[in-house]
Amino acid sequence: MLGRFDSAERPSRKSAPMPLQEHNYWLTTTEFPATDASRPLPETIDVAVVGAGFTGLSAARTLAKRGARVAVLESETIGWGASSRNGGMVLTGMKLGINKLISMYGRELTRRMYAASLASMDCVEQIVGEEAIDCDFARSGHLEVACKQKHFDDYERQSEIIEVEFNHKLRVVKKSELSVEIGSTIYYGGMVDETSAGCNPARYVAGLARSAMKAGAEIFEHARVESVQRESRQGEPGWSLRTSRGTVWAHEVFIGTSGYTSAATPALQRKIIPIGSFIITTEVLPPALAHELSPRNRMIYDSKNYLYYYRLTPDRRMLFGGRAAFFPENDQTVRRSADILRRGMVSVYPQLADARVEYVWGGTLDFAFDIMPHAGQMDGMYYAVGYAGHGVAMATYQGQRIAELMAGDKPENPFVGIPFPGAPLGLYNGKPWFLPLAGAWYKFLDWVS
Ligand SMILES: Cc1cc2nc3c(=O)[nH]c(=O)nc-3n(C[C@H](O)[C@H](O)[C@H](O)COP(=O)(O)OP(=O)(O)OC[C@H]3O[C@@H](n4cnc5c(N)ncnc54)[C@H](O)[C@@H]3O)c2cc1C
Repeated sequence: MLGRFDSAERPSRKSAPMPLQEHNYWLTTTEFPATDASRPLPETIDVAVVGAGFTGLSAARTLAKRGARVAVLESETIGWGASSRNGGMVLTGMKLGINKLISMYGRELTRRMYAASLASMDCVEQIVGEEAIDCDFARSGHLEVACKQKHFDDYERQSEIIEVEFNHKLRVVKKSELSVEIGSTIYYGGMVDETSAGCNPARYVAGLARSAMKAGAEIFEHARVESVQRESRQGEPGWSLRTSRGTVWAHEVFIGTSGYTSAATPALQRKIIPIGSFIITTEVLPPALAHELSPRNRMIYDSKNYLYYYRLTPDRRMLFGGRAAFFPENDQTVRRSADILRRGMVSVYPQLADARVEYVWGGTLDFAFDIMPHAGQMDGMYYAVGYAGHGVAMATYQGQRIAELMAGDKPENPFVGIPFPGAPLGLYNGKPWFLPLAGAWYKFLDWVS
């Protein structure tokens, strides 16, 4: 494999070097819709949606299409959170393995959850089509690669169960055949799901915002929600939301703040662990080298707990991500991640030893204590959170489904009403002091399992 390319085809350090930018590469490809910074918040509204990511914007689009007056309140800018910062992998399944899910919820509910995970990708594809969102959405499939022989052995078992129980076909790829899928020799085999997709997430979230605005929702950027209090008006129950741009009264509230959930919604904040994830992208690679690395342009991730995920961008950069630091993004964790991820990338692809890394950035994932998505109502407010790194499709889907519920429908949603555990012994106030311990624990698990 390695020998197929001569040095002339490899990225060369001789070209004008671009300094490493601590900046999200996707943002360089995206134009966000403009909002009016001077426009005052409306006095009253039907639904206040907190957070302008996939969850909030998908909900706002659906609610506005159903005739509701909707204000999206975003403390930063459209898509500022994980929705513009992620790998753009539109994935089937959930973070937990299928056996674990069956042991937690039984066969029937797990079957409905798996079907919802497939429907969530259709939901993204449908919105992208309906709204003509130019975000490079393509069903290029995903490849999970085994870091140990026993992980590969488990692929055989998992794919059998998934076919029998959920009528969904995965393809197990032996090590001897893996070069058709990936230009790396370090793995013990892989498992392909052809239905997963890739997209440019920043363009997708910008398009989702445009579509919500087109449907009539108003988006208020730099409107940080500081408190949400129950307040009746003229006998009508509702909510008063105090924000950095004034106060708004709403009949209903939908919280879509994910890993950035704050003390404005303390009960939800205590259920969510914010975990950092980081990404580098290389310079644009020569076509032949890009093809060698990922001949089928898959969305790829490995079988570790402390995993790497990677893919080619539409303009042929290698985008390589992982949990290089457990703490959410700040100057230090982002800078350190660039080195850690670069070493990780070269360990997978020695072909990239000379490739320049041009961008590094981080974002915050939202993990529930049971690593499951959760949605429904808490303290009277609607919410959807807990995507655990599988949020591109699921956040879009949950936003839509919870909005349908709010509009009076009874949509199928197997994640509503499942137990939503908090921290053991309640030892958590929303500040994740235990992250270094969790990081060490996952590294230990990767070593022994
Ligand atoms: C580095 C990284 C890589 C990832 N890769 C993938 C991937 O490849 N595939 C995948 O499926 N998932 C991936 N994910 C996960 C996915 O990006 C998220 O699950 C998804 O974007 C969550 O969307 P959201 O709308 O719920 O939250 P977010 O996009 O995080 O949006 C929440 C918004 O709420 C706002 N907010 C918070 N508090 C307040 C407040 N008080 N007032 C007003 N606004 C507030 C924030 O500013 C933020 O913009 C990744 C995540 C990260 C960080």
